[in-house]
Amino acid sequence: MAFGAHSDDIDIRAGGTAAKYVDKGYGLVYVVVTTSASGINGLSPNGSIKIRHGEARKAAKLYGTEPVFLDFHQCVYPPGKTDRLPKGNICISQASDNEKTIRMVTNLILKYKPEIILTHCTDDLHEDHYHTSALVYIAYKRIQKTLTSARLWLWPSGSRGSIIEFKPNKFVDIENYLAAKDRAIKEHKSQCARSPRLRTIAIKNAKFWGNKCRFRLAEAFIEVK
Ligand SMILES: [Zn+2]
Repeated sequence: MAFGAHSDDIDIRAGGTAAKYVDKGYGLVYVVVTTSASGINGLSPNGSIKIRHGEARKAAKLYGTEPVFLDFHQCVYPPGKTDRLPKGNICISQASDNEKTIRMVTNLILKYKPEIILTHCTDDLHEDHYHTSALVYIAYKRIQKTLTSARLWLWPSGSRGSIIEFKPNKFVDIENYLAAKDRAIKEHKSQCARSPRLRTIAIKNAKFWGNKCRFRLAEAFIEVK
């Protein structure tokens, strides 16, 4: 089960791991936490949401699944900033401090009973990533004693970096799954157009983490103890 703040985060940070586990016979629950309304320059928030939801559906399909959209508002578009966003949703920055939303995430986790939960690391400097991590972490701690087999794996921070050095204790060999990861990233056409180096950076990261362990290409995680 993977929780990405934006429609492309799961593929960029853990697409090789997701493809590998699906290949082993596991199911993937692909959760997109915010609306991802900010991702396309020049489009209205709702226009961006439509496109980015569509891209997430295409990427998730490669793993044989359908995304679950939680549609929290992003920090850049909190409720009230624009009336063109879905009504009634709260901002991701408030979600980890809100009993209703924490319970919604714990219920989602308990519904699928995942063996591994993947999400952002808690010191990611992107506000949406940080608050998504906090929400999933709090929900995970609530159900840790009920769902004892579930492990929480945090992936490295995104482009805005982190104030703390990422020290992984889990590496996944993705040598045979880099192509699958790349295919999933390519489905996010709007984001590849916006950041042409997105796919190159993913390959560079796989080599970087591979160098830190015994694999040629790897994805890295911190397993929360
Ligand atoms: Zn993101």
